[in-house]
Amino acid sequence: MSTTDTIRTEVIIAGGGMVGLSLGLALAQAGIATVVIDGLPPSTIRDAAFDGRVSSFAAASCRMLEALGVWEQLKPDAQPVLDIVVGDGSVRDGASAALLHFDHREIGNEPLAHMIENRHFRLALDDRARALPPLTLIAPARVLACTAGTNSICATLSDGRTIEGQLCVAADGRDSPLREAAGIKTQGWSYHQTGIVATIEHERPHQGVAQELFLPSGPFAILPMTGNRSSIVWSERSDLAPAFLRLPEDQFLAEVGQRFGDQWGKLALAGPRWSYPLTMHLAMSYLAPRFALAGDAAHGVHPIAGQGLNLGLRDAAALAEVIVDARRLGLDVGSSVVLSRYEGWRKFDNALFAASMDALNRLFSNDIAPIKFARRAGIDVVDAIAPLKRFFMRQAGGVTGGVPKLMRGEPL
Ligand SMILES: Cc1cc2nc3c(=O)[nH]c(=O)nc-3n(C[C@H](O)[C@H](O)[C@H](O)COP(=O)(O)OP(=O)(O)OC[C@H]3O[C@@H](n4cnc5c(N)ncnc54)[C@H](O)[C@@H]3O)c2cc1C
Repeated sequence: MSTTDTIRTEVIIAGGGMVGLSLGLALAQAGIATVVIDGLPPSTIRDAAFDGRVSSFAAASCRMLEALGVWEQLKPDAQPVLDIVVGDGSVRDGASAALLHFDHREIGNEPLAHMIENRHFRLALDDRARALPPLTLIAPARVLACTAGTNSICATLSDGRTIEGQLCVAADGRDSPLREAAGIKTQGWSYHQTGIVATIEHERPHQGVAQELFLPSGPFAILPMTGNRSSIVWSERSDLAPAFLRLPEDQFLAEVGQRFGDQWGKLALAGPRWSYPLTMHLAMSYLAPRFALAGDAAHGVHPIAGQGLNLGLRDAAALAEVIVDARRLGLDVGSSVVLSRYEGWRKFDNALFAASMDALNRLFSNDIAPIKFARRAGIDVVDAIAPLKRFFMRQAGGVTGGVPKLMRGEPL
């Protein structure tokens, strides 16, 4: 195909990250011609050093992975989370000030979540995409511009090609150049915190326990991975984080040990350290003519409860459902009537979630005595009232609210 060809399709997705490609699979499985364009070369996502983060997939997201046909490939690398312990302060000398304990048996036998390495997820999505004919994956290439007309929208790629479709979805990440180009404003702020991420090997097994420790400079999460490994997401003040990141390995491990404690024996670093600035942002609108935002392009939340990707997957599931329903009714899938259903479904839910994560981070990232007292009192109430605790567990599992079909494990 020459670079001057115009490719015709139904849906164009700019950004083949975890959200964009999931949406592409959902649409292609329902027989909708879709083109996904991503800026990264396929060899990069196949590199073992690609994206050191691990994501927690809520029960509803795991159902979606099954419906998308990627779960079988991911299962051997997915670590079930059986218990979540929330603590106030670090786990020094094995004695955590445990405040809340969520046990998966309280809401049935399903694990509370699964931890999956981002690189494994990207790879499984990529493999599935290449085996699904209604989906065309173009990478590496960037979408430079989208021009909406009355009946179609045209995307111009960095390699000179153009793609014409009925709708363009921007799933191009938190800095979303296409959101900017569409003139959609965002609201948000920096937490002045940096997320330090690393994989830690420990002597003894973690038994599927995830821990969220609230320290004055920010939350410190210990997330179980397969084997005797855990991923840490250490939210640290941004003025202090660079010094921690530069420390020699033994001193860095000593700092991790101060927070992690000796609960699982000797610690070792199993891979590089990564860092991410922590910010919150919400797009003021999710729509422009024949154009919609999904995933981090639409919202970014503090990783305190590991829900950013889960929200993005929910966007993808809802948008796919809206598009497939519209197509069955013979409607124009890029029309404002159709897209407004998606925005109405997801925008409020995402804003509410971002606000809750923001409040949690503010409540816990300090050592002021009256606030410490208030949060302990609040947590004691949650821990003592079983139905309230179950409510929070179901919320975290993504099984409350307007759950899209794919997240209920139903086909579109
Ligand atoms: C420290 C940390 C820990 C986290 N932990 C969790 C967790 O445990 N659970 C969870 O649910 N979430 C977690 N998150 C959030 C989660 O990582 C993000 O919400 C998720 O990666 C968003 O996916 P996305 O596909 O929307 O965007 P991205 O992953 O940013 O993907 C965007 C894609 O678009 C491509 N792109 C950009 N511009 C263009 C263009 N012009 N043309 C074509 N392609 C383009 C890029 O190459 C990229 O592949 C965490 C975040 C951080 C910072």
